Amino acid sequence: MPKTSLVLFDIDGTLLHSGGCGRAATRLAVQDVFGTAGLLDEVGFAGKTDWQILLEALTPAGIAAGEIERRLAEYNLVVARRLVAIISGCPVKPCAGALKLVAALRANPAVLIGLVTGNMAGLVPIKLRAAGFDPADFPIGAFGSEGWERAMLPPLALARANAFNGADFAPDRVVIIGDTPGDITCAHSIGARTIAVATGPFSADELAVHQPDGLFPTLEDTSAVLRAILNGQRGT
Ligand SMILES: [Mg+2]
Repeated sequence: MPKTSLVLFDIDGTLLHSGGCGRAATRLAVQDVFGTAGLLDEVGFAGKTDWQILLEALTPAGIAAGEIERRLAEYNLVVARRLVAIISGCPVKPCAGALKLVAALRANPAVLIGLVTGNMAGLVPIKLRAAGFDPADFPIGAFGSEGWERAMLPPLALARANAFNGADFAPDRVVIIGDTPGDITCAHSIGARTIAVATGPFSADELAVHQPDGLFPTLEDTSAVLRAILNGQRGT
């Protein structure tokens, strides 16, 4: 039986806190691959794709956008290697309620779980495992090397989910869960519903401005979040 609900999670600030190791690995890998970190220390990461972060950090330092694009595959390998080397020393932890919510969704035969994340693909299983998730629970996704802006990612994730499922998900049965305004607005590209969670750098009030369909302080109230995902009910 094809599944009927698709739930697409952001990673950082939504499923887990990486304890600074994402930024640290990025800094090391950018130096390795491009020979400079450019303006990386001044670039905010939240809600952006890694490709976008590289463009903002490196083009002001004179590295052309075309060169960044050409070296993304190499960068993906290097940043994953750098993250593996440092992650055991970082306080990576799951966001409140996230493990329990994923387990509850995993137990629902109507639900396919996936990812829409700004992370380079190589970083994803490393971060998920470090926070206690099983990457196999997220069989499809779209990643930060696949678009220089986040809105480019949901159509990729949806196409992969439809192919994986063998049947198309109706737009109102697709939910994107994230912690930034970018997660909310990127859902417009596929007409998906959105659930915002204030476990990242944005407060509930700041997220509310962008009119998510559901809004929660954390993912801890599993039954309320499940209702918002599966029945379209608003959070509090
Ligand atoms: Mg995030």
